[in-house]
Order: sequence, then C-alpha cells, then structure tokens
Amino acid sequence: MVNSQPILSATGLSMEFRGFLAVKDVTLSVNEGTVHALIGPNGAGKTTVFNLLTKFLTPTRGRIMFRGADITRLKPAEVARLGLVRSFQISAVFPHLSVRDNLRVALQRPSNLATQFWRSSNVLSKVDDQAMSLIDAVGLSRYEHLPAVELSYGRKRALEIATTLALDPTVLLLDEPMAGMGHEDIGRISELIRRIAKQRTVLMVEHNLNVVADLCDRVTVLARGEILADGAYDVVSADPRVREAYMGT
Ligand code: ADP
Repeated sequence: MVNSQPILSATGLSMEFRGFLAVKDVTLSVNEGTVHALIGPNGAGKTTVFNLLTKFLTPTRGRIMFRGADITRLKPAEVARLGLVRSFQISAVFPHLSVRDNLRVALQRPSNLATQFWRSSNVLSKVDDQAMSLIDAVGLSRYEHLPAVELSYGRKRALEIATTLALDPTVLLLDEPMAGMGHEDIGRISELIRRIAKQRTVLMVEHNLNVVADLCDRVTVLARGEILADGAYDVVSADPRVREAYMGT
C-alpha cells in the first residue's frame, strides 16, 4: 500500500533541553502506506523526535501535521485517538496476564474509542473476537492462554505490537522493534511489520541496518540533532556524510 501522500510531517522541529539543542530544525515527512525508518548514531536525537511526534514532548519550535490537522499542541492520548500510536522500547505488557487477557485489557483502554460501551455483554463478546483476531494477526494463536512472562522475547514484542494495534492506528511508531533479538525473532517481527504495512503506515527507529535495508521504503538519517540524509536506503547509505557519521567508514 505505497502512496506518495504525506500522512505525518514535521516542519522546523527543534527541541531544547535546558540550553542544549537536542533536535535542530528537523523537517521530515512520512508518506502514507510506507515503512519509514529513523536511523542515526547514539545521541542523534531519534528518541527525542519520536517523543515530539507522539507528543510526549512539546517542541520548542516547529509544527507537526497529521492527516491534515495541526497536532503540535495536542496531548499523547489525543493524538493516539486520532490514529497516531507508538510502542515503547520497554516492555508494556502485563507479565502475569495471558496473551488473550493482555489484548482484552488493551481493547478496553479508555483511549480506545471502539470500546466506549464495553460493559454490555454484546460488546464484551466483540472484544473477545477482536482479541482473537489480533492474536491471530501477530501469529500468537498457539499461545493465547500463556502468561506473557512465559513468551519468548520475540513473541513478547509481537504481543506488545498487538496491544498497540488494539488502538487501530493509522500510523504506528515502533521504537527499536528488533532490539535484543536473535535472527529468528527478527525474521518473525519483520514479517509482522510487512503485514501491518499492507494496511497502515509504519515509522520505526531501528539500529539493525540489514532490517532497515530489507524492510523500509524510506530512511531518514539523523546526526547531532539534524537531518543528514533522507531517501531510499541504497541512496542514503552511499552518502559519504552518512557513512562518516553513522557507519564510521
Ligand atoms: P537517540 O535516541 O538518537 O540516541 P536521544 O533523542 O535520546 O538520541 O538524545 C539526543 C540528545 O538529547 C542526547 O545528547 C541526549 O543526552 C539529549 N537528551 C535527550 N533527552 C534529554 C532530556 N530530557 N534532558 C536533557 N538532555 C536530553
């Protein structure tokens, strides 16, 4: 589902922490239906940009547009309701709840508009159906009754992604979805992201450049808070400034 229309864009975004300019005049746009990566060395400002886009931080300067609306001054829950949803690097699942119950909880969050009337039994059975279809979508059907704590690391990340899908995002922001994973789990999560991207837009911070090359339609490279390059992976990875700043070659 690749479309050339920007669905999320930032213009002149800057973030200052007590005199330190962590993000400097960043302008970027994420096109609808793409898998877009934000990469760069440690300290480049990736997490800060992520937090700005999802409104966990308010920019010192600049503007953020999502689906044609200015969201610069909105709160995280408000942008989530509009369809801009993020995952966290740190585990966000309830370890002692089963896979299915984790999804039930996610589907019944107040921020999930679809469950406003969840108390009625009719809606409860709908929540169950939705939970099962999300479990199926992320390939966890065999584990629906297992407590999250007993899942392998990669499957736990798949469950986390399912809890974010419970909010039915238009744009899903994933913060290092492959962090700490082995080869097999990376393959599984890559496949999952590919499936998600058939219906949604994905913006991800990712360190693993093989994953970025394999999965992403477009890459934005940050270094020292500024955009160094933006475009297809093959093009940006050949840019000498990127090689120097990011790859050390
Ligand atoms: P990345 O995710 O690319 O590693 P970050 O966005 O975490 O980079 O950090 C960018 C820079 O901003 C770093 O120098 C970091 O120390 C600084 N920084 C991030 N958050 C804060 C904060 N809350 N207060 C002060 N400095 C911060």
